[in-house]
Amino acid sequence: MQRLARPIEFASRDAYAHLGTVKNLGPFVSTQVLDALAGDVYPPNVETDLLALRAVFGDFDALTDPAERCQRVVDAQAILSRLNAPDAFEQKTSAHSAPAELWNLPIQYAKGVGPKRAALLAKLGVATVEDALWYVPRRYEDRSALLPIGQLVPGAVATVCGTVGRVRLSRIPRRRMSILNVTIEDDTGALQCVYFNQPYLKDVFKPDCRVMVSGTALAGRKGWTDLRMDVPQYEVLDDEDAPLHVGRIVPVYPETKGITSRQLRTLIKGLLDQYLEGMVDVVPDVVRSRQRLLPIRAALREVQFPHSPGDLDALNQGITPAHRRMAFEEFFLLQLGLASQQQSVKEEAKNVRFDTATPLVGTLRALLPFRLTQAQERVLGEIQRDMASSRPMNRLVQGDVGCGKTVVALLAMVTACGSGCQAALMVPTEILAEQHFLNTRRLLEGLGLKAVLLTGGGTPKVRAAVRKQIETGEAQVAIGTHALIQRHMQFSKLGLVVIDEQHKFGVLQRKTLLAKGYRPDVLVLTATPIPRTLAMTVYGDLDVSVIDALPPGRKPIRTRVFDEPERRRAYQFVQDEVRAGHQAYIVYPLVEESEKVDLRAATEGAARMQESIFKSVRVGLLHGRMKGEDKERTMAAFKAGEIQVLVSTTVIEVGVDVPNATVMVIEHAERFGLAQLHQLRGRVGRSAQQSYCLLMASTATGEEGSAARQRLDVMVRSNDGFVIAEEDLRLRGPGEFFGSRQWGVPEFRVANLIRDHALLEQARREALATVQADPRLSSSGHQAARDAMRRRWKTKLVLGTVS
Ligand code: ADP
Ligand code: MG
Repeated sequence: MQRLARPIEFASRDAYAHLGTVKNLGPFVSTQVLDALAGDVYPPNVETDLLALRAVFGDFDALTDPAERCQRVVDAQAILSRLNAPDAFEQKTSAHSAPAELWNLPIQYAKGVGPKRAALLAKLGVATVEDALWYVPRRYEDRSALLPIGQLVPGAVATVCGTVGRVRLSRIPRRRMSILNVTIEDDTGALQCVYFNQPYLKDVFKPDCRVMVSGTALAGRKGWTDLRMDVPQYEVLDDEDAPLHVGRIVPVYPETKGITSRQLRTLIKGLLDQYLEGMVDVVPDVVRSRQRLLPIRAALREVQFPHSPGDLDALNQGITPAHRRMAFEEFFLLQLGLASQQQSVKEEAKNVRFDTATPLVGTLRALLPFRLTQAQERVLGEIQRDMASSRPMNRLVQGDVGCGKTVVALLAMVTACGSGCQAALMVPTEILAEQHFLNTRRLLEGLGLKAVLLTGGGTPKVRAAVRKQIETGEAQVAIGTHALIQRHMQFSKLGLVVIDEQHKFGVLQRKTLLAKGYRPDVLVLTATPIPRTLAMTVYGDLDVSVIDALPPGRKPIRTRVFDEPERRRAYQFVQDEVRAGHQAYIVYPLVEESEKVDLRAATEGAARMQESIFKSVRVGLLHGRMKGEDKERTMAAFKAGEIQVLVSTTVIEVGVDVPNATVMVIEHAERFGLAQLHQLRGRVGRSAQQSYCLLMASTATGEEGSAARQRLDVMVRSNDGFVIAEEDLRLRGPGEFFGSRQWGVPEFRVANLIRDHALLEQARREALATVQADPRLSSSGHQAARDAMRRRWKTKLVLGTVS
């Protein structure tokens, strides 16, 4: 407090003679206030005063008028003297130590809400008082600059304050319309305000009452001396409260039909007045002061009704200290949940500690046609350490397409089998399941292990037989789709589950397996196109290994965009590659909405090619609607080289591995997203041969066309999944990026994964440290956080054994 008072004191000395020489008072006061608030817990009245102090100096350094500067210092002194009063800090928070459980207060019972409005609020995601306090403005409007009416100019947005003069309501019955004319006057002039179809405002604008209105001034019939505002924002001033809707920075909320920002403002202001003091800070004090975060009450107040006009840009970008504080809380609670979950898995005991020295591993290595890369060896080592430990493994292996995740998983699987357990490999598509089965069956048989394939296809009889083999333990390895964890499935001794291409599953969590009574080790494989911030959020409870190198001798895939007129040249290129003994994919887009049309395009495309350009070439067709056995046959024929050009829909997007394929043509490349293009392209470049990707693009124009061009350019420039994912996020923005995929990304109310990524990292670090120090979050300083975390993320997380 002393530090704050001194420069202000100095500025006021000798009849404000030093005012001109004081520099940077604004930033200084702001820093001091934020530090003070972050460092300790103050009673609400002190918080309010400190924030008011910061606001007073918000734009101080920009002020040129000495009188105004003087006024600010006087205002500040008044606040300081309040703060210096002997009892200012007396009312410690313990005075209201019984916190209101705001998350338990249905909004319906808040003052002035009721069932009807509660239903509307529910549409906005507001169910409780806490939700309402956290309902942050979409943007802010600066309605703080008050002008005398005489200084209004047409076209300018302004706020004026005056007395209501004449009020006239006219109705135009023919057009079922009403017009309310209100004259507002101050010492310098008069202004007409016009409202359409709001006759009830007649009772708001009573003659002689003082009002504030805010809007765009328009020239009236008699020119610029006769000014008018159409439907200005208004507020009736009384002496008690500070204005809410005008004369300040005003929050504008996401609205829904039947509830306006104005109503929300009034509601939230009322809730703040009534409940804010009962709000508990759930971020532990140590974390709060280390991260220099505002107390939650101050943050909520500032986000809803900001004091400082100097912050308008920061407010609109959501980067004020108050926004930061709230975003941190969201991240922190989520990360705390993930860290607790991770911790709880570490505390589970497992039934078998796997013998990683099993001879099966060595035998399999000897059967492989290549040696593992260093990156693969390192990751395998990490996996085996987990498997040998007495704690369950819950590990994610990240690695770009083609880096060789399968073989690492396979080695882990035979490790499990070596200790007499079963291993399951679960994949998102039947085609991929079949391919993994074909590729690994012989290797596994070489080790004396029986593998079976279980998908949703095939006859019930066959499926039943396979299930039986898994149930009795006759089969040691089960490869399949979701069918593997369906209701009737029963394993004899499930030791390891590998989930391949995890990103295709959405959130498939360990809890699904636990719910079935298994406690297996879990290994999750995913191709990287996932930005780091996202990985931290979605996979935050997993240990992570990264295969960060491709097998040796791989050449970067060469990618080029071909426009329609160049189609012949593209086909010629495919011809040449096929003649050289290689194979090609030609991929057609397939989206659900136009599935029939898309399928026809692929089918006809295949027929046409076979008959014309690729007459002497064996062309095959593959799509998801084919019968299981037909798909199998086609895939096997392509793998064996009997089919040279495979025309397919995006069913080959994940996992398919035919190293001799060196060309991929992607039709209508402009219709694909970046992640999908990258995945598709990953089907080639799987050997030491130079591979190519030809992106066929229809020339779309306009905004959509240019966005598509940018995506294709990214593909041409980079082969790196990480780079492509970050570009994707940048090009699309977080809303669309996360919205259009089943990432299982939690929804944040304030936080933004892109804007606040640095904050996310800090929140994660703090959460990990917190859980490490107090695994059960049972100390008194952590209980509030623990409870809030469970409330907030209960549907997203299963917080195992943390109690
Ligand atoms: P992904 O990580 O995309 O699942 P895969 O596991 O399908 O990649 O492997 C891609 C290709 O690389 C396969 O043909 C595989 O046999 C081959 N491969 C994997 N590891 C190596 C290695 N160490 N040396 C050479 N080729 C390898
Ligand atoms: Mg794979």
